[in-house]
Amino acid sequence: MNEVWIVAHDRVGGEALASSARTLAGQVNAVSLGAGGLAAADLTLTIDTASSAAPVEAYATAVANLLSARGATVVLFDAGTQGRLLAGLVAAQLGVSPVNAAAVELADRLTVQRLAFGGLAVATEQITSPVAVLVIGPGVLPATEVAGEGAVEAVAASPAAGLTVVELRPKGGESVDLGAAKRVVGVGRGFAAEADLELARELAGRLGAELACSRPIAEGVNWMPAERYLGVSGATIKPELYLAVGISGQVQHLVGVTNAKVIVAVNKDKNAPIFSHADFGVVGDLYQVLPELLKAL
Ligand SMILES: Cc1cc2nc3c(=O)[nH]c(=O)nc-3n(C[C@H](O)[C@H](O)[C@H](O)COP(=O)(O)OP(=O)(O)OC[C@H]3O[C@@H](n4cnc5c(N)ncnc54)[C@H](O)[C@@H]3O)c2cc1C
Repeated sequence: MNEVWIVAHDRVGGEALASSARTLAGQVNAVSLGAGGLAAADLTLTIDTASSAAPVEAYATAVANLLSARGATVVLFDAGTQGRLLAGLVAAQLGVSPVNAAAVELADRLTVQRLAFGGLAVATEQITSPVAVLVIGPGVLPATEVAGEGAVEAVAASPAAGLTVVELRPKGGESVDLGAAKRVVGVGRGFAAEADLELARELAGRLGAELACSRPIAEGVNWMPAERYLGVSGATIKPELYLAVGISGQVQHLVGVTNAKVIVAVNKDKNAPIFSHADFGVVGDLYQVLPELLKAL
C-alpha cells in the first residue's frame, strides 16, 4: 500500500493532515470540501461547497462515492468536531467503522493502535476491510511541512437534500491549542472553589504555561471550558512540563498527559495514582504548596 487519502474541510487543517499523511505513503490524495487544492497533496479532488447552503456533512455520501470510485483503501480524517462527524458518516456509507487511531503503521498491511476500555488498554489491530477510515488526533502522525503544488481536479457533487445552514456565528469563549503548549498546568477537584483557580492561573502565567483541567472541572462544575480538559475524551498534550495540581490521576486523565516529558504532581494524598506516573511529586495541600511555589518563582 503506497497511497492514502485524506478528507479536508478547511485549508489549514487539510494541509497539515496531508503533510502528516506523507509519512505513511508516497502518494497522498485529498478530497477537499470547500478547502481548495492542497499543496501538500499529490492530487486534490475539489468539491465546490460554497454554491450551496448545505453544511459539509451533507456531502458525506458524495465523498464516500468518490472514494469508492477512486479505489481508496485508507482514508484519514482530522479529529476535530467536523472531521469526526464526517468520518462517521463516510464510514457508514462505506460499510465500515471509523477507528480513532492512536498510532498508525502502513506497510504491506495497515496496523493501527487504538485505546480500548476507556483508555485502560491499547488495542493493536490489523485492518483487513477493503477500506479503512481513520480519525487522526493531534500528535498521532508527525507534523511535517511539504511545499509543493499538487494536481487539482474539480469534481461535481451534490449535497444531500434537507440540510441547510441558516446562520453562522462565532461559538464564543476562547479557542486554545493545548496540543502545541510547551508547559501546561492542570487543575482538578482538589480545588475547593472556582475562585481558587486564580492561584493556578497565576502559577501558569509565571511559568508561561497554558491552564488545563480534569474533566470534572469542565463538565462537572463547569469552571473551565470543555476545550481545556485533558484525557481520553478531551485533549492530548505533549508538553515539556505538565504540572498536575489536585488531580488524582485516573487512567482516563493520564491517557491525555502521558506524553509529557516531565510530569510534576501536587496532591495531599500520598497514595494518589498520579504519583506513580509523576517524575516529581509534592505531597501537600495545594493551598500551601502553590503560594510557596509562587513565592519561589
Ligand atoms: C468514560 C469516561 C471517560 C472519562 N474521560 C475523562 C477525561 O478525558 N479526562 C479526565 O480528566 N477525566 C475523565 N474521566 C473521569 C475520570 O475517571 C476521573 O473521575 C477524573 O479524572 C477525576 O478528576 P480529578 O482528578 O480532578 O478529581 P478526583 O479524582 O476527585 O481527585 C481530586 C484529587 O485532589 C486531591 N486533593 C483534594 N484536596 C486537595 C488539596 N487541598 N491539595 C492537594 N490535593 C488535593 C485528592 O487527594 C484527589 O487525589 C472519564 C471517566 C469516564 C467513565
